[in-house]
Amino acid sequence: MKSETSSMADIKTLLEIKSELKRYQATLVAVSKTKPNDEIMQVYQAGHKSFGENYVQELTTKQQELPSDMEWHYIGHLQSNKVKLITPFIHLIHGIDSEKLLSEINKQALRESKKVNCLLQIYIAEEESKFGLDKREAEELLIKKNNYPNVNIKGFMGMATNTDSHKQIEKEFNGLHTFFNSLKEENNLSVLSMGMTSDYKIALNCGSNIVRIGSAIFGSRK
Ligand SMILES: *Cc1c(COP(=O)(O)O)cnc(C)c1O
Repeated sequence: MKSETSSMADIKTLLEIKSELKRYQATLVAVSKTKPNDEIMQVYQAGHKSFGENYVQELTTKQQELPSDMEWHYIGHLQSNKVKLITPFIHLIHGIDSEKLLSEINKQALRESKKVNCLLQIYIAEEESKFGLDKREAEELLIKKNNYPNVNIKGFMGMATNTDSHKQIEKEFNGLHTFFNSLKEENNLSVLSMGMTSDYKIALNCGSNIVRIGSAIFGSRK
């Protein structure tokens, strides 16, 4: 007998979010970390193909087991020694937070004769623990980007402070949007990845064009 305890992805919410995003010309990365393949397949069968993961091992296993036309986004902190495990298939790496990592991705992409799409992760929160570059470091990396011709820096990713203060979150997202606008023409940037379940509506109003949403679609994680 089939177990009744396995949970279901919330397809109604998925479709509501997707139609809301259309108005902003933004796209969704469904964050499937910790979730089993059968729940990911429910979302895929509802017509959604972009998924986000934050552990390399979990991502590579899922990528091998699930349909080959899924688009995988790496949204976690990436260690240089694991880069080569994901470059063969990754659609977009959201969290570049050092030149060392950028250089390693370039090296691996060159070996595979391809370009790998990346976002610089910009530190915008008032919290100690989050990874990312400050604005000055990001500008310096953009100046050196021609040293890394096999990496395509498409834009920025940022995570706001985990707070109930709408004002605070808005201030952080608006700050990143302004920074993005000041550099986008010169550097050909088009992607601004901001917003998760708790703050994606704020992020959309602050200029985000990719939101990364997990728990609203898949339920809370253990
Ligand atoms: C887990 C995660 C998300 C999704 O978080 P939810 O609150 O479940 O929507 C988004 N971005 C990053 C970087 C994450 O690690």
